[in-house]
Amino acid sequence: MKCLFCEIVAGRAPAQIVYQDERITAFRDANPRAPVHLLLVPNRHIASCGELEAGDADLMGHLLIKLPHLAAQENIAGGFRLVANTGRSAGQSVLHLHFHLLGGRVFSWPPG
Ligand code: 5GP
Ligand code: ZN
Repeated sequence: MKCLFCEIVAGRAPAQIVYQDERITAFRDANPRAPVHLLLVPNRHIASCGELEAGDADLMGHLLIKLPHLAAQENIAGGFRLVANTGRSAGQSVLHLHFHLLGGRVFSWPPG
């Protein structure tokens, strides 16, 4: 079965891409839960945070280090939430590792 986020990264499925380089892609969530709701993904298919290996360290560091840039671009540098649902029981519905970057409103804690 085709992976939806691999298709978006490759440009074969539509998405509002706000940042892309040779290693990562950020695009708008189709069902936003906040005024700003991006999904940050590695371009290479990794199923979830639970599948990460030592060789992924540079890639994941590269992804995280883009957060200030994306937050500034989206005008949410003053506060944002980063979420990685991992596994079905944690609410992961798309099995391609992704971070939700949410901002533009106040968030409660703990999450549901
Ligand atoms: P998860 O539930 O796996 O943590 O997050 C998956 C996210 O992907 C959800 O927030 C959902 O709204 C989003 N999503 C599902 N299908 C699509 C799509 O076709 N395009 C975009 N841009 N987002 C999608
Ligand atoms: Zn994939």
